[in-house]
Amino acid sequence: MIPNNHLMPLIPRPDVIMSHGKGSWLFDTEGKRYLDFIQGWAVNALGHAPHELQLALQRQSEQLLSASPAYYNAPQLELCRRLCDAAGLDLAFLCSSGAEAVETAIKLARKWGRHQRSGAFEVLSTQGGFHGRTLAAMAASGKPGFDEMFPPNPPGFRKLPYADVGALEAAISERTAAVLLEPIQGEAGVIVPPAGYLNAVRQLCTQHGLLLILDEIQTGIGRTGTLFRFEAEDVRPDVLLLGKQLGGGVPLAATLCSQRAYGLEPGEHGGTYAGNPLMAACGLAVLDAVDQELLSGVRAAGEKLQAGLTELGMRHGFTQVRGAGLLCAVELDRPRAAAVTQACFERGLLLNAPRPRTLRFMPQLRVSPSEISTMLETLDLALATTT
Ligand SMILES: *Cc1c(COP(=O)(O)O)cnc(C)c1O
Repeated sequence: MIPNNHLMPLIPRPDVIMSHGKGSWLFDTEGKRYLDFIQGWAVNALGHAPHELQLALQRQSEQLLSASPAYYNAPQLELCRRLCDAAGLDLAFLCSSGAEAVETAIKLARKWGRHQRSGAFEVLSTQGGFHGRTLAAMAASGKPGFDEMFPPNPPGFRKLPYADVGALEAAISERTAAVLLEPIQGEAGVIVPPAGYLNAVRQLCTQHGLLLILDEIQTGIGRTGTLFRFEAEDVRPDVLLLGKQLGGGVPLAATLCSQRAYGLEPGEHGGTYAGNPLMAACGLAVLDAVDQELLSGVRAAGEKLQAGLTELGMRHGFTQVRGAGLLCAVELDRPRAAAVTQACFERGLLLNAPRPRTLRFMPQLRVSPSEISTMLETLDLALATTT
């Protein structure tokens, strides 16, 4: 039991208090260390307490913490410029969480529908998709159970099977304003669509005049071995959502869009922390670190991870190993993922079980080969002792 615990019990937590971390390792207040393959939920791109972020926080905190969203600040301008350059888009909005970035995109979609598609407002998204926990982001998500939690749900969302181009085409109507999806579904258990899917969706959106909104909050900023996942199919979205790794551990997210997709008027959107210079400085430090060399390291580490999991899977009956770069998952022989992550936790390894039969792996982007080996050895033992 944790004494004097006043936290809302929104998620079951083990009875330990995390105290500090370094790279791939996290330590609790009792001094036990954990090899961290969760990394703040695919957030700590550069691992725990990276030197680059310490420097960025130190330097920026000596200059300016907040000048209010009503004034420009230098880190904000620079981060927006670099993100737009990298993504081939024109405009950016910085905020504090992925869900806020999704809300921004929904507003863009509704404006687009009103102005370009005679009042269309519907956003087509996907079953199993995850876009965050505000009411509208939950309505756009296709996570099982979400629809029943807080009725009445915000209208204007329709969920279709993921990776099904035919279903998407059939659902497009005069009500449709935009398509919102993840290039790889993360929370659903790292569901990688077949090659060609993104391209086909892009073509449908272009043909019908719909905005393509890609939620790369989990796949973006190098996680899959390229800066953005959409590069794998050379597809450009109209609206791009980033979060998680963008801040490398601090609250930072972004909505990017093309000039033509932008239809908001002054006063229609904003936020107290939008473009906060302290967070923007961290985003710049992350972008500096995620260079071509680091990205090729992610691809090599991802191959080693998948090869090791495939080998392990032959002995432990995995029915699938999947993923891209350092976003991977395995499908277990039976629904024992929670028991396996518990056994791993006891042995000092942090893994996530997004589904009863699914284990997910999202180490920091600079995870070393020996850390991957240690993870595989620990998982091997945990699997052997779990029924
Ligand atoms: C985590 C996540 C979100 C929500 O981000 P928050 O920062 O938790 O609001 C949205 N979309 C995807 C794909 C995510 O993985």
